[in-house]
Amino acid sequence: MSDCIFCKIIAGEIPSRKVFEDDDVFAFHDINPFARVHFMIIPKLHIASLADAGPEHQALLGKILLLAPKLAYEQGLDSGFKTLVNTGRGGGQEVFHIHVHVFGGGPAA
Ligand code: 5GP
Ligand code: ZN
Repeated sequence: MSDCIFCKIIAGEIPSRKVFEDDDVFAFHDINPFARVHFMIIPKLHIASLADAGPEHQALLGKILLLAPKLAYEQGLDSGFKTLVNTGRGGGQEVFHIHVHVFGGGPAA
């Protein structure tokens, strides 16, 4: 999606603080963190929201969820963390490329 800011981040057209990347998935720190550690995990495939995902995305979404504790631990959230997926305008979603927020460690500085 040429006008999607998260697709541009994946492509390196918009800089980000990368946490993790493989063939399927990209993770990067939120530009406006609401916790001391706050990053997002996204699929490289453009899926607009959880409401736009289908059975063909089951493995990809499962992979993202299973990655959350691993990356959270690597980022120092060894006693636990929160996850959040905003879906749709009414759900507070601002960027329409599906993303799982992972955050914790107390309030952002
Ligand atoms: P949403 O409200 O859609 O669940 O969350 C979108 C998140 O993306 C927000 O927390 C916002 O701070 C973050 N964000 C928006 N634009 C950028 C950007 O250009 N770079 C980074 N790293 N985060 C962004
Ligand atoms: Zn996208």
